[in-house]
Amino acid sequence: MKIIVLNTPEFKIDGGAYFGVIPKSIWSSKYPCDENNMCKASCRSLLIDDGERRMLVDTGIGDKDVNDTINSYQADFTQNLEINIKSAGYSVEDITDVVLTHLHFDHCGGTTKLNKNTGEYELSFPNANHYISEKQWENAFNPNYREKSSFIKKNFEILKSSEKLKLVGKTIKISNNTELRLFDGHTPGLMLPVIKLDKNTVFFAGDLIPAMASVPLAWVSAYDLFPLTSIEEKKSILSEAFKKKWIIVFQHDYYNECCDLKKTEKGVRANKSFKLEDIFSNEK
Ligand SMILES: [Zn+2]
Repeated sequence: MKIIVLNTPEFKIDGGAYFGVIPKSIWSSKYPCDENNMCKASCRSLLIDDGERRMLVDTGIGDKDVNDTINSYQADFTQNLEINIKSAGYSVEDITDVVLTHLHFDHCGGTTKLNKNTGEYELSFPNANHYISEKQWENAFNPNYREKSSFIKKNFEILKSSEKLKLVGKTIKISNNTELRLFDGHTPGLMLPVIKLDKNTVFFAGDLIPAMASVPLAWVSAYDLFPLTSIEEKKSILSEAFKKKWIIVFQHDYYNECCDLKKTEKGVRANKSFKLEDIFSNEK
């Protein structure tokens, strides 16, 4: 059983949007930005290999269709998911399951690609079941005004007629070790995996806690549709994570891949930052 962190194209986020109501004088001491207030953001995917299944969590921006929305985030295509999957020793055909945490373009853009011969979009991981929450699926086809530009239908529309689409309505296990949990604060039906290893448990915090600086409850991104719901969801998952000594993996933190947690007078906080591969010396 192993989990590999895979980088996908990176981009920049406005610091004010990244950290919501937190003033720049405070967030800039925790997360650097450039002269235009833009913060570097990673876009990590996970590959979970339990010996039987090879489960990919999120597919990044992809590289098939660079539009105005993507350009406004100054995307950098140096990292490439398919190349990084190959470098890790796998092929796209090896992937048995794709879990899409939600359908914002930076999480599902690599799910489909254009076949230049047919002119049609096709699945990048042709053998994989694709898990998306029911609420998010419904939301992506009927988006509210604010989220609308984040949903690019080419990224997921072909799943509509595919038997590979698996809609998820409640917490489920997709393997013995991988459970998918549902959240509504960032967007309805955000779905995040909890993965049990022999000695450690890993929580992929996705857009619920995008960076290590976002662990304190009030640090909610301005992109979240329902910030008060995000706060309640963070409170509950961080309390469970602290009690059970989970490792938190950050999808968008350019500087910190994961951390463990500690309890302080002010609540649960990030403890030490490290790389996920560091824990595998303790795992079988
Ligand atoms: Zn999002």
